Amino acid sequence: PVFADLKLAEPILRALADAGYTTPTPIQAQAIPQVLAGGDLLAAAQTGTGKTAGFTLPLLQRLLETPPENARPGRPRALVLTPTRELAAQVEESVRTYSKYLKTTSMVMFGGVGFNPQAQALKKRVDILVATPGRLLDHANQKTVDLSGIEILVLDEADRMLDMGFIHDIRKVLALLPARRQNLLFSATFSDEIKTLADRLLDNPKLVEV
Ligand code: AMP
Repeated sequence: PVFADLKLAEPILRALADAGYTTPTPIQAQAIPQVLAGGDLLAAAQTGTGKTAGFTLPLLQRLLETPPENARPGRPRALVLTPTRELAAQVEESVRTYSKYLKTTSMVMFGGVGFNPQAQALKKRVDILVATPGRLLDHANQKTVDLSGIEILVLDEADRMLDMGFIHDIRKVLALLPARRQNLLFSATFSDEIKTLADRLLDNPKLVEV
């Protein structure tokens, strides 16, 4: 299969072509149609498999297809949680790459850097927020971000987030999200702890493995 066979809008395909990507990787070929169908997803995928585009491309497509409800500055529609600032920055860079011909806006936030510049950035429209859990909670507590409009949640490298002790932060974030949303969980490994999280988080998930 080629990307053009997947039900992605022309501006997304054009951005892919600019990046030089024509053929989806196995995780992309499996995950993209499942995410486009709207259900929850449990994906077993290592770094290097193309997992980032595997969730970013259909996420952009889904946002494109549904008009935002109650669009407001500082009220993102999609949230990607990552374990580290490096991964957050990489993921947001991918979001920018694939959304270059869309009006969709994105922002990355992580700890260890100033809070106020992030708070300022949240005064503008941010459709896709890529964040590490601790700093996201700081913003939620300060009400500089409003998570009540999240339509799609992605947990990227969920196993690493648990290894790094983020389970309590993740649970606190989940409590701030609307009940009706699409959930995507990506993990390289499947410990009992991940299975517990997946059971709690995902509704009748489709499984994708590479
Ligand atoms: P990831 O596993 O998401 O970290 O992606 C690994 C690398 O593969 C990144 O450098 C991507 O830019 C690249 N990549 C993602 N999708 C494709 C594709 N369909 N064809 C070629 N390279 C890709």
